[in-house]
Amino acid sequence: MKRVLITGAAGFLGSHLCERFLKEGMYVIGMDNLITGDMRNIEHLMPNPNFEFYHHDVTKYVHVPGELDYIMHFASPASPIDYLKIPIQTLKVGAMGTHNLLGLARVKKARFIIASTSEVYGDPLVHPQTEDYWGHVNPIGPRGCYDEAKRYQEAITMAYHRYHGIETRIVRIFNTYGPRMRLNDGRVLPAFIGQALRGEDLTVFGDGSQTRSFCYVDDLVEGIYRLLLSDYALPVNIGNPAEITIKEFAEEIIKLTGTEQKVIYKPLPQDDPKQRQPDITKAQEILGWEPKVLREEGLKITYDYFRNLPTERLYEESN
Ligand code: NAD
Ligand code: UDP
Repeated sequence: MKRVLITGAAGFLGSHLCERFLKEGMYVIGMDNLITGDMRNIEHLMPNPNFEFYHHDVTKYVHVPGELDYIMHFASPASPIDYLKIPIQTLKVGAMGTHNLLGLARVKKARFIIASTSEVYGDPLVHPQTEDYWGHVNPIGPRGCYDEAKRYQEAITMAYHRYHGIETRIVRIFNTYGPRMRLNDGRVLPAFIGQALRGEDLTVFGDGSQTRSFCYVDDLVEGIYRLLLSDYALPVNIGNPAEITIKEFAEEIIKLTGTEQKVIYKPLPQDDPKQRQPDITKAQEILGWEPKVLREEGLKITYDYFRNLPTERLYEESN
């Protein structure tokens, strides 16, 4: 039985990855310090004899007994309001956390994959973004703690690959959505759906002309799975190229939820990227992967998840 360590297991993506790897017949060790995660995301996995959970901060020395075939480093605050609130932990989990886990990968002779991000391209001047674009990041701006942590994470991963010969993979994840996002994490989809469910107006930042391209979580997990099993060590974009402006997105959510609320405009956060769309040619060619779930379908599943949560969860404070 293959054994995989997944950090950030109690988070949105980590919990879906744990499920997928259990379904593939692997023994899954989830690790999380719950700084932005939630045990409710994985409580259904706890009785599974092939699942084990360690409450641990990966910026501290990481010890896991037994063999490991794969290490997936997904721990990191991921939403702008989270990493603005905890910028130092964000830098540490990208830097020291990644270093610790690379050390573990070396000892265990495990294949290692990191969750990088479209944010390594910053506010991109090349559109759509290809993996060979070096990016346009403001290192000292408010988002710098996240973007530069992820860029360092890529750099140290490539250094371990080149210097120590570790098998490494880098997935550059574009905006992903689905069940188990935190309603109050400030990301645009839970923000809009939460507002609709609470009967509040939808807050569009700026004039709403900025674009994003949203990928449904199951498609992302499939892409990550294929990349991990591939022999390709350079970064690969995984995302859905269907691009939309945030204003149009708000209108889609209004239609989906049937809310009678309207759009209101708030100031655009500093360094908010103006456009974002993955070029997925590499994923198509190397992994034979492309997204399958249309936004309309994925949004419906996600909305059903949120509206079936107990009402008090709509009003929970942020971690
Ligand atoms: P999330 O906040 O739901 O999950 C992150 C998890 O990491 C949380 O459970 C948190 O408690 C845990 N964590 C943070 N610091 C830790 C530490 N020091 N030690 C142990 N655990 C720690 O976020 P997510 O959306 O699931 O993102 C997961 C990963 O994917 C992150 O690395 C993020 O940067 C990356 N990513 C996500 C997206 C997206 O659209 N969701 C896009 C690009 C990249
Ligand atoms: N956004 C918005 N209203 C909100 C939350 C976010 O208009 O209530 C915008 C935000 O300014 C950005 C886009 O939606 O342009 C996506 O934001 P998110 O935080 O989801 O992700 P990221 O900026 O990291 O892509």
